Amino acid sequence: MAVDLAHPPHVADLARRTAQFVREVVLPAEERNRSAVPSEALRRELQDAARAAGVFAPHVSAEYGGHGLDMRGRAAVFEEAGYSLLGPLALNIAAPDEGNMHLLEAVATEEQKERYLRPLATGEIRSCFAMTEPAPGAGSDPRALATRAERIDGGWRIQGHKWFITGADGAGFAICMARTSGTPGDAGGATMFLVDADNPGMKIVRHIETLDESLFGGHVEMLFENCEVPDEAVLGAVDQGFQYAQVRLGPARMTHCMRWLGIARHAQDLAVRRAAERELFGSRLGDLGMTQQAIADSEIDIAASRGLILQACWELDQGRSGGQSTAIAKTFCAEAVWRVVDRSLQICGALGVSGDIALSRFLREVRPFRIYDGPSETHRWAIARRTLRRHTTAQAETAAQAQTSAQATAATQADAPAGAPAGAPAQ
Ligand SMILES: Cc1cc2nc3c(=O)[nH]c(=O)nc-3n(C[C@H](O)[C@H](O)[C@H](O)COP(=O)(O)OP(=O)(O)OC[C@H]3O[C@@H](n4cnc5c(N)ncnc54)[C@H](O)[C@@H]3O)c2cc1C
Repeated sequence: MAVDLAHPPHVADLARRTAQFVREVVLPAEERNRSAVPSEALRRELQDAARAAGVFAPHVSAEYGGHGLDMRGRAAVFEEAGYSLLGPLALNIAAPDEGNMHLLEAVATEEQKERYLRPLATGEIRSCFAMTEPAPGAGSDPRALATRAERIDGGWRIQGHKWFITGADGAGFAICMARTSGTPGDAGGATMFLVDADNPGMKIVRHIETLDESLFGGHVEMLFENCEVPDEAVLGAVDQGFQYAQVRLGPARMTHCMRWLGIARHAQDLAVRRAAERELFGSRLGDLGMTQQAIADSEIDIAASRGLILQACWELDQGRSGGQSTAIAKTFCAEAVWRVVDRSLQICGALGVSGDIALSRFLREVRPFRIYDGPSETHRWAIARRTLRRHTTAQAETAAQAQTSAQATAATQADAPAGAPAGAPAQ
């Protein structure tokens, strides 16, 4: 049976126009702001340009001013936007806002959507997602969640310590994950709260200096100290936070992969251009076998990443959890993107390490992706456990089938005429 992997015309058209917008508007802006962390003024300028080009907010539904793409459609468009570090910011599909919009569309009440989703979708405000805590709190293992919210009259009081919260400085609101029942180590008992930026109980401690720079607003350590919020601040139902986190995390893992795949392609383009032009040992660099191997391996990594992303997105579009396929795709892509950028830098020699082309910056930006959205080790552990569980379940089913057919045979034999051979069909 033939499998049609072509995107529908409206998706292909949006992807094509996004690529053109990135080439003509975003890359020149990136060139002008090469070493700088993007400013709020630049964010607004690029978002205005994206709106004018008709490529803004491809992921949000039309009701909130977007193009309403499903996950497979996002795969095509986000990869094109990701070709520039500033592309996702321009289209309003950068982390963590894009994942938060997805979560709000799926879980928020109509009032919450008007108050938080609508201004987020238009780019009027930004947001953050506050889950991770310094040790011994939530990290790879979310069950270690230590931030607590206790009931007060008409609402909740949150106490906790978070860090690595991307974009928290300057965000209009935070989605804060806090424990409303149980103790650290329990698998349930978390609730998501919408906390406005002007809440005096939500405080920024410091900006954490990190390897990467391009995620807007940086990464922040923050405190929730006697942070009081009303009942309407609960996102979804109390104690269901871990379930809602899955609504956000599966798709968010994939959209990170899509964006970074764009950077991998960009890195490969830079390396191929260099390999085609640089003369070494009497031939083109690209005619030397080890360079060809590096280029081929990067093509394979890029193609395999795209295939795994599409498979996982297809499952998400079918309404499936996609737990296994998103974990596989995330682990592979995070490592493949690193390999591609690293090989590309090697092909370019000292030029690759310099600030004259973007490769050294790409290398710094992609490395943390092997840690956030679940470190590779956590995903491998989960992938293996699911695989072993499948094996155990299959064995149990085989044993149950064998028992059923043995019982059927025994019953048949009991019905069979005296002297009929074992296993003979009933008369
Ligand atoms: C750039 C960046 C941005 C981030 N943005 C946000 C954000 O906006 N909001 C937010 O809430 N969090 C954010 N995070 C935090 C991120 O989600 C956590 O770093 C991640 O969940 C890992 O948790 P941890 O750092 O506490 O590492 P730990 O949980 O301490 O894990 C340390 C290491 O243990 C290893 N490990 C993990 N599981 C296993 C296993 N099963 N078997 C063997 N080894 C294992 C891995 O190598 C892992 O790196 C961000 C992190 C980074 C780096």
